[in-house]
Amino acid sequence: MTSALVWLRRDLRLYDQAALHHALKQYQQVWVCFIFDTSILTPLLSIGQGFDRRVDFIWQTIEDLDKTLRARGSGIIARHGDPTELIPALARQLDAQAVFTNHDYEPTAISRDEAIAQTLAKNGVAFQHFKDQVIFEKTEVLTNSETVFSVFTPYKNAWLKKLNPSDLEPFVCDLPNAGLQGRYAPIPKSIDTGIPSLESMGFRPTGIEKYLPPSQRGAELFLGDFLKRIDQYNIGRDFPATKGVSYLSTYLRFGLLSIRGLVREAHRRMLASSLGASTWLSELIWRDFYFMILANHPRLADGESFKPDYDKIVWEQGPKAQKLFKAWCDGQTGYPLVDAAMHQLNQSGYMHNRLRMVVASFLCKDLGIDWRWGEQYFAEHLNDFEFASNNGGWQWASSSGCDAQPYFRIFNPITQSERFDGEGKFIRRYIPALEKLSNKSIHAPWLAGQLELEAAGIVLGKDYPSPIVDHDEARKATLIRYNVVKKVA
Ligand code: FAD
Repeated sequence: MTSALVWLRRDLRLYDQAALHHALKQYQQVWVCFIFDTSILTPLLSIGQGFDRRVDFIWQTIEDLDKTLRARGSGIIARHGDPTELIPALARQLDAQAVFTNHDYEPTAISRDEAIAQTLAKNGVAFQHFKDQVIFEKTEVLTNSETVFSVFTPYKNAWLKKLNPSDLEPFVCDLPNAGLQGRYAPIPKSIDTGIPSLESMGFRPTGIEKYLPPSQRGAELFLGDFLKRIDQYNIGRDFPATKGVSYLSTYLRFGLLSIRGLVREAHRRMLASSLGASTWLSELIWRDFYFMILANHPRLADGESFKPDYDKIVWEQGPKAQKLFKAWCDGQTGYPLVDAAMHQLNQSGYMHNRLRMVVASFLCKDLGIDWRWGEQYFAEHLNDFEFASNNGGWQWASSSGCDAQPYFRIFNPITQSERFDGEGKFIRRYIPALEKLSNKSIHAPWLAGQLELEAAGIVLGKDYPSPIVDHDEARKATLIRYNVVKKVA
């Protein structure tokens, strides 16, 4: 019997999964494995002292997939360690002739995969990898002069022009399907060590399942809920207090949902004139865009600005910068929308897109702090952390990115608050101390009169911080700071 090992990474599902489909098509026996990679997990251990919602989310998802596969007489082979050793070792123990997996676009993952492919080749084992997490990758969408795009709108137009129904066809993985010869094989007893517990890896439960169920069923429930609202996405998506966005990012990040399925649904509705679906499809294309940018500019993973001149900017440093940064992280800047957004992130691991833009702009353009500090904080705390989109978002906000905000556009955190949380509902949800302020004053409590503050039971500096910077002065300082890039902006 021919046999293959499928290595799951950020594609944690058993349907419409490219690597799984190809393995089941080409090989008779198929095993599925997942490695809790110590090179990724060990740094997370020290950051969260064992509390990491992503690790818990992945762990519960693997348990869910394992149950599904056990019901079919197989299971997930799960290990904790270094995949460069464990994958070749598992292939050898299982006597598999091939390892199948899906593409990853981060430079460290690419080098890891190359090392594994080489070791496997020495043992006579094939390494097959496939495009799965995007619709178009690397250089599949090019300009008329065959160069890589760096501006989103023409990229999006070319992406839509190139899109064919075959790009969205699911990779069938169901066994009764005629084209597949493979079956999920029983795991040999000597290899079946079960899933390492969270605790054995140094982590602990986080309770994420209470609001983001880590299972196929959870992903489907969230998707079903969003599809009832998708046609209004364009109307509600900018208002963090309303349920306007999909909240699917973590499911997409870890591959519980297939991008092809989501694009199929959005595209179909777009053709039926749904403005909401068309706007949402644009967001999914942004995701492809940033993966494409990273694949073609791997230097971004070394912390470089997309526009090299922006690396000349001198950011605040030293104890004062550390203090301002800490206030930003802790939601203690005195700007209610910024603080509420940071509380949302710290409490749930999620932050609404409009707020990501507001807090990112505030960090680099009001506090004068290097966007890389914020990028790192997001990387540590976002459930949906995705290097390509996170880097893209931060470079957009700091103006150093490929298709970024002009450097002189500086969000005003008060008017953003008035526009996108006019009644202060979002702020009140995350900062109960401000609950009793009027809808007018809640965006800038220091501008409320003493009487109103007293009536609302607020002593500024005690119940809620005074603003740590003056926005107008910060704005002027930022324009001076960005002088070095004026000629290239
Ligand atoms: P929806 O509005 O429902 O969008 C649907 C999907 O489209 C998202 O799940 C996401 O996959 C994709 N998407 C939406 N907006 C963007 C965008 N601007 N760029 C790329 N893809 C997008 N997104 C991440 O997935 N991971 C990150 O680490 C991340 N970091 C960000 C950092 C900053 C500073 C900014 C400004 C944005 C960042 N984003 C990131 C993009 C965006 O904020 C999130 O994708 C979105 O808020 C997730 O919520 P949702 O699923 O409800 O989004």
